[in-house]
Amino acid sequence: MSHVCVVDANKQPLDPVHPGRARLLLSQGKAAVLKRFPFTIILNVAIDAPVVEELRIKIDPGSKTTGIALVNDQSGEVVFAAELHHRGAKIKEALDDRRAVRCSRRRRHTRYRKARWQNRRRREGWLPPSLTSRISNVLTWVKRLRNLCPITAMSIELVKFDMQAMENPDIQGWEYQQGTLAGYELREYLLEKWNRMCAYCGKGNVPLQVEHIVPRANNGTHRVSNLTLACEKCNQAKGTQDIKDFLKKKPAMLKHILAQAKAPLNDAAAVNATRWELFRGVQALGLPIECGSGGLTKYNRTIRELPKTHWIDAACVGQSTPEHLNITGISPLLITATGYGNRQLCGVDKHGFPKRHRQRKKVHHGYQTGDLVRAVVPEGFAAAGRHVGRVLARATGSFDLRTARGRIEGVPVRYCRPLHRNDGYSYHSTRGGNSSPL
Ligand SMILES: [Zn+2]
Repeated sequence: MSHVCVVDANKQPLDPVHPGRARLLLSQGKAAVLKRFPFTIILNVAIDAPVVEELRIKIDPGSKTTGIALVNDQSGEVVFAAELHHRGAKIKEALDDRRAVRCSRRRRHTRYRKARWQNRRRREGWLPPSLTSRISNVLTWVKRLRNLCPITAMSIELVKFDMQAMENPDIQGWEYQQGTLAGYELREYLLEKWNRMCAYCGKGNVPLQVEHIVPRANNGTHRVSNLTLACEKCNQAKGTQDIKDFLKKKPAMLKHILAQAKAPLNDAAAVNATRWELFRGVQALGLPIECGSGGLTKYNRTIRELPKTHWIDAACVGQSTPEHLNITGISPLLITATGYGNRQLCGVDKHGFPKRHRQRKKVHHGYQTGDLVRAVVPEGFAAAGRHVGRVLARATGSFDLRTARGRIEGVPVRYCRPLHRNDGYSYHSTRGGNSSPL
């Protein structure tokens, strides 16, 4: 299990502790629970100038899931790990829905309306809301974790491939086949560029070898633009022949391969816009930042013989990765972005007609929809029993609870106790195989 975050009475972050120690502090009354996700305890006492071990927050941003790991560079220990699932697709769906409803509503009026969309302008560097939310998710969690743990540095995977490492022509022939970092990075790049298949016969899912298009014997260089991937059979068949001789009977393929070899892998090699924006965002937080490449991450993970998951990838980002990465017992906190609901006061049906109206008020009896509560309802009520779940707050004071076992209706507010206020995310714990959504 991940360590438990500890803050002192002034909410100053201290060293995270083992869950056993946290349990002891809690049972002895020396601390209280401050937060459930991530689990944080607050000490009774304030500590002047605490001595803490510095932690590094490491991030592997992904389009659907971002891996987060807190690593102690000195001891090589992973202290906390999380996987953050974004809600980009949901945002797009919601906007598409709204657009459809608006379009059809406008079209229902038959009078002529002048086009309105010609006055729309997007600022430079505009990103769609689905991507902006991804960036905001990551920034939110860096800020939250910084408030709970002594984080002093940061590593982030900025590029997929380190082009500079690849264009380095000193690399030896055998290094291409794996081994060194540069060779490793280059292989990954080539796999991406040549669609993970043999350039000559198109076979995939076979071991591929790095191939010189103009052979070394004919003074072919080690540059990326002279390299391709071939299966063993094709590689041997080609041998030291020039590609023009080898593909004499297939001029179309020859042309295609030569063209593709020259074309750089633009979209993957260039840092994409989202990652840049994220980089700018984390830069503004003022932590010293180390940037890594995807190739380096994979290299770090492979030589340490670690399995591939988002959080382990995060722990392997950057040159600063400790020689020995201790991940024993870590189970990541699974975080899913859910948002805070919408501001729509008039809900519409699928044709865009008003269906329901909502109050401007969001807080009812001290609860908001989405708060995690524990309810102990006595016998005599339909909802009798102990429940833990997310609340659907209503002005009537009769709430619904969304629990792991299903929806519980009609829970009176007076039997509810708040556990964790809605913070825009839902949590799954992987501990003990129990992954109920909370
Ligand atoms: Zn082949």
